[in-house]
Amino acid sequence: TAAAAEEPISPSVQVNHTQLLIDGKFVESASGKTFPTLDPRTGDVIAHVSEGDAEDINRAVFAARKAFDEGPWPKMTAYERSRILLRFADLIDKHNDELAALETWDNGKPYAQAAHIEVPMVARLMRYYAGWADKIHGLVVPADGPHHVQVLHEPIGVAGQIIPWNFPLLMFAWKVGPALACGNTVVLKTAEQTPLSALYISKLLHEAGLPDGVVNVVSGFGPTAGAALASHMDVDKIAFTGSTDTGKIVLELAARSNLKSVTLELGGKSPFIIMDDADVDHAVELAHFALFFNQGQCCCAGSRTFVHERIYDEFVEKAKARALKRVVGDPFKNGVEQGPQIDDEQFNKILRYIRYGVESGANLVTGGDRLGDKGYYIQPTIFSDVKDNMKIAQEEIFGPVQSILKFNDLNEVIKRANASQYGLAAGVFTNNLNTANTLTRALRVGTVWVNCFDVFDAAIPFGGYKQSGIGREKGIDSLKNYLQIKAVVTPIKNA
Ligand code: ADP
Repeated sequence: TAAAAEEPISPSVQVNHTQLLIDGKFVESASGKTFPTLDPRTGDVIAHVSEGDAEDINRAVFAARKAFDEGPWPKMTAYERSRILLRFADLIDKHNDELAALETWDNGKPYAQAAHIEVPMVARLMRYYAGWADKIHGLVVPADGPHHVQVLHEPIGVAGQIIPWNFPLLMFAWKVGPALACGNTVVLKTAEQTPLSALYISKLLHEAGLPDGVVNVVSGFGPTAGAALASHMDVDKIAFTGSTDTGKIVLELAARSNLKSVTLELGGKSPFIIMDDADVDHAVELAHFALFFNQGQCCCAGSRTFVHERIYDEFVEKAKARALKRVVGDPFKNGVEQGPQIDDEQFNKILRYIRYGVESGANLVTGGDRLGDKGYYIQPTIFSDVKDNMKIAQEEIFGPVQSILKFNDLNEVIKRANASQYGLAAGVFTNNLNTANTLTRALRVGTVWVNCFDVFDAAIPFGGYKQSGIGREKGIDSLKNYLQIKAVVTPIKNA
């Protein structure tokens, strides 16, 4: 494992926007309060950001309501909305490197990943949703009586959106893209750990021609700003991505207030199943990627690596060699695969799970400690001989800790893989078509990646079974989250 860089490299971007974005203007929070956002490489303050609270959520919802009811937004044609999203995508391309630098600085993810995968994907998502904007239409359906029946698809209204810190810009795109394509207005609450990139990109969205008040961005904390949004009486829909525990709170707040519709994208404990016909070297690489990508901070991380007993010993040995080769360090440095974890809370939580693993008798193959003495770096860690009933096999660790479990029979592994409160995703690694078909149908999860992992096209729906969520994002299904359905019935009479 490469050591963390001693001298952090300075990001090539300035922090220009730290205030709340309400009704097209950057403004102070009503209380005047700010909170610091930190550089995960060092724990140093990057900037002080306006802290939104219930009063600011009120102001933002008021602006979004006005823009939905009166502003130019509802009067625009779908084609004009589409053009704005296309211009926005071009501006994202133009500012790709600044957006990526801001994302890495605030989040700690490798710059190459932000610059070459994530920010381009944000532009791709905007073009995808621009394509939908003028292709959303209702139906004319047959009725038994002499009636002409139209089914209209209308925007829901004001959408509240709460996003997490692991993919700040991508989560912005997954939420804002479909909401705008369908003609809604938005109040977005960013994660308190990563408020910067959403403010920057929203400025670009306004440069692209978005009318004031259509997208409002409030930085702030969950129990204050987030809860105020979820329970607001004038918000028509809430979309949330985050932990299962917080998702339950959001659903409850929505129910107790105005019964706004809710979509949730929550936690996971995704199995990655490697059959004995697998090419072990390839399986090791893919399982490594499935878990360690983004510092292990993915809701869909392949965090239970099930390996067939015939190849188990070889797999563990090679997985260890791969983890030892993983380059950990300053995410702005070329060639770095893993940066720091997001903050001290997550850092300590991961170290706590590593201790649970050791105490419960799992075999610590490699890693197990922090890296260096500054910032939130953790050694790529592997446990083998992990048993289903151990905490590390049941709970979301959200860090660079791979748990390897042994199995010997297909039916056994299906049962064990499904024995989870979660059902977000799964990986399947086999060359046998029948095995692949059996597994893809038996696994109770929202996505199965066969001989691949973490493939995220704009058109592929993503979401969870069981306690991993409600609803789907991306793809055609994501539009349903942002549309109301209205039936219009008129009698047909002879003139
Ligand atoms: P994590 O533990 O990974 O930070 P959370 O689910 O707590 O995940 O956070 C995801 C998002 O939910 C963040 O934007 C956070 O501020 C917000 N959040 C946290 N608590 C609440 C709450 N009680 N009500 C609404 N939003 C919340």
